[in-house]
Amino acid sequence: MASFSLDKYLEELKQLVNIDSGSKDPEGLSKIAGFFEEKYKNLGWNVERHTAADKPAPCLVITNTPAAKGNQTGENPINAEKQYDVLLLGHMDTVFDRGEAEKRPFRIEGNKAMGPGVADMKSGLLSLYYIIEGVRDNLGDLSVCILLNNDEETGSAFSKSLIRELAARSRCAFGMEPARENGSLVFERKGIADLRVEFFGRAAHAGVEPEKGINAIEAMGHWIVELHKLSKPEVGTTLNVCIASGGNKSNVIPDYASMRADLRFFDSSEVDRIRGKIEEMRRNPGPRDARAEYSLTINRPPMKATEKTRKLQELVEKAAEATGVSFEWTSTGGGSDGNFAAEAGIPVIDGMGPVGGGFHGQQEYLLIDSVEPRINLVKDVILRLKQYRENQ
Ligand SMILES: [Zn+2]
Repeated sequence: MASFSLDKYLEELKQLVNIDSGSKDPEGLSKIAGFFEEKYKNLGWNVERHTAADKPAPCLVITNTPAAKGNQTGENPINAEKQYDVLLLGHMDTVFDRGEAEKRPFRIEGNKAMGPGVADMKSGLLSLYYIIEGVRDNLGDLSVCILLNNDEETGSAFSKSLIRELAARSRCAFGMEPARENGSLVFERKGIADLRVEFFGRAAHAGVEPEKGINAIEAMGHWIVELHKLSKPEVGTTLNVCIASGGNKSNVIPDYASMRADLRFFDSSEVDRIRGKIEEMRRNPGPRDARAEYSLTINRPPMKATEKTRKLQELVEKAAEATGVSFEWTSTGGGSDGNFAAEAGIPVIDGMGPVGGGFHGQQEYLLIDSVEPRINLVKDVILRLKQYRENQ
């Protein structure tokens, strides 16, 4: 087995970071996909391309056990025997538009590598490759599935069904998103819902006959105050109105206003509680209130830690001890594709990539000295999955 070369890694990382691959950049995404497709094929792994009709860049499903039991039997894969011992998730897209890499190309400052998407998550993708290269000869009958998608940063509209399907066929999943700034791994993530409310009132001259108007902004203000009372931080539920607008002339009672709120939760029953309250508000407007219409959509289900997660955490802790990596566990309000994998009822741990910070911003960085230790950690985790399978 070739020993790991950090210099070669950084050279390849430079190449990847300097290719813009925003979620809406099929050309760049195809280049990233091509890079990994070739590398995994050279290892002798099976690489399948999955492409949405309106999205020319492929998602890659990479595995050492290409013959899908679910597919062979024609059975619904969701009900098929667990086929993969582990599902590993990575996204090839970044939040940055075309031109960003040219403005601030990959560079190294001391222990930090910088550049668009360097930590979130081009290094996670590259590390994953070296993890697989490192363990592939020792996997025995462990079956591994990797999904590299290209729309995570925009909510995984296309790939989420693929994630759910692969997760349903897997025993557990790991996300290769970067470890947090303090090196911690993520065992729990909140679900995310989007609340949109529109208010329909009646316009009137604000000076001449204001009494004839119904002020849509006033109604919205009332709703905002009431909605914020629905947060329940003690169970992790937060509701925040993040966008609000209405009116277009300073002397006209506005007949229209609209707002969007961000709802986060660990427990899906919280969404029902909030929906119930909102429905009550909609049905019982005040005598002079504008009419309200709303939609409440769950965009990412919660990745709630379960008993199975605790077992997987124990395995990761043992691997960390064996490889000399110290870390903490963290629960976060931020979502990832781990949320969709968790929806299939399997345990998911995220943040298995190298350590970084400043994600989605100009100051994004990767800690270079975390690359090799975190690769070793995940290699050890994967090799322990055989025991995990037997203990289930
Ligand atoms: Zn990410």
